[in-house]
Amino acid sequence: MNIRRRERLIEISRSLQHCREGRSLHFSYILKNNQLLVSSVNSYTKLHPYHKFGKYKPLKDNSYNYIAGVHSETAAIREYINRFGNSDFSGLTIFNVRLSKSGEPMMAKPCGNCQNLLDSFNFKSILWT
Ligand SMILES: [Zn+2]
Repeated sequence: MNIRRRERLIEISRSLQHCREGRSLHFSYILKNNQLLVSSVNSYTKLHPYHKFGKYKPLKDNSYNYIAGVHSETAAIREYINRFGNSDFSGLTIFNVRLSKSGEPMMAKPCGNCQNLLDSFNFKSILWT
């Protein structure tokens, strides 16, 4: 992805900061040849759609009672399938943006659960801030 496209997506994310529901704010963008097709944000108030994407396991030792919200990656995949009616992701790029409370890009590598999901959907590339 070229640097201008990357910066533009970070800018779009900043304009959507009012979507923050909890501690972390994550966005996922699905692109085809630099064209933006889908954007999504994580949610703490909605639950992870395990019946579609499998259960999300706790990834930290202290998270025994982990109840997964909707990660931006699953929201993006669901939105893409709803909108385009197919689940062929082989030509698509997903780009994750995470913003701090002051709007600075933070490390947005997919969590282990999302990484497994993205691998199973066979994305062409997986990028993050
Ligand atoms: Zn995740």
